[in-house]
Amino acid sequence: MEVQSRLVSETYVCSNCQTTVERPFEIRSIIRTCDECGRNGRFLHRSLVDSLNSLPDDELPEDWESMRLDERFEDAIQRGLIEITRR
Ligand SMILES: [Zn+2]
Repeated sequence: MEVQSRLVSETYVCSNCQTTVERPFEIRSIIRTCDECGRNGRFLHRSLVDSLNSLPDDELPEDWESMRLDERFEDAIQRGLIEITRR
């Protein structure tokens, strides 16, 4: 009989350089030191990054492109552009 792993693999994105890591659990974000850029910071769940990328351009601040992902996330929440619906 085949034993199937029930571990899911969730993708998290480095706020600073957008390197991705996989983790077998789903939360909003994780804090870790990035292997790529060496920065200790927040990795956002892929679904949040997708939400940030799908926001309408005319709702975004001028410096949006230069903001880190976690800064965009905080900004979008404050503006009410995205809502946290879980955890
Ligand atoms: Zn990084």
